[in-house]
Amino acid sequence: MADDNQDFLIEEISSRLGEIRGRLAEACRRSGRPVGEVTLVAVSKTHPPPCVDAAILAGQVDFGENRVQEMVEKAGLVRAGACWHLIGHLQSNKVRKALTVADWIHGVDRIEIARDLERVAGEEGRTVKIFLEVNVSGEATKFGFSPERVIREATEIFGMRHLDVAGLMTMAPLAAEAEASRKYFVRLRELRDQVGREAGVRLPGLSMGMSNDYEIAVEEGATHVRVGSAIFGTRC
Ligand SMILES: *Cc1c(COP(=O)(O)O)cnc(C)c1O
Repeated sequence: MADDNQDFLIEEISSRLGEIRGRLAEACRRSGRPVGEVTLVAVSKTHPPPCVDAAILAGQVDFGENRVQEMVEKAGLVRAGACWHLIGHLQSNKVRKALTVADWIHGVDRIEIARDLERVAGEEGRTVKIFLEVNVSGEATKFGFSPERVIREATEIFGMRHLDVAGLMTMAPLAAEAEASRKYFVRLRELRDQVGREAGVRLPGLSMGMSNDYEIAVEEGATHVRVGSAIFGTRC
């Protein structure tokens, strides 16, 4: 790619990131939360390495991918300084590969995959930061623990020494109106509070909110928002 193309990309992505960071700060102010409490995860899935490089040059650190193969390939091609979050469904046979790159796994959606992560992380002598994904809307097409199941199974997961459970993650149903997501975010926060209380653990994290509804997610307590198209557009 020609240099002025890359310059244009950096300008474009830098300005979008600035806009989003401003909105995040506003949402924090509205809800009386410190701005530093919210991590912006830039979802780069389907976008090629120059887009990620442009974002890194614009100061972005955290990146999200939903497929292991794509994440690993991209991570090997972009400049240093990125922190990788796997945000999609993870299969057992890809756990080891995922852990070569990812510091965070947001889509821990069943007890079996938590056990796999614990075993592999243990073999490698490291700790993995995870979110437990919950299907709060109950849609049949969505991955995730049911609310009942996450309450029942969280205690076993909290006992896994190589997993550092940050909190809960969810995806709100697709909707035309961002406000429609609020009740799912509230539900996830309440569930997070309940799981933490019953297990007697501190559970600060909530991974929720995407391009269309991240401000509402922050108003309802999100600590990690996963924003793709608002940063990278549909073409980058
Ligand atoms: C793609 C994706 C996102 C980002 O979606 P945008 O609407 O592009 O912001 C967030 N979370 C998950 C799990 C995704 O797969």
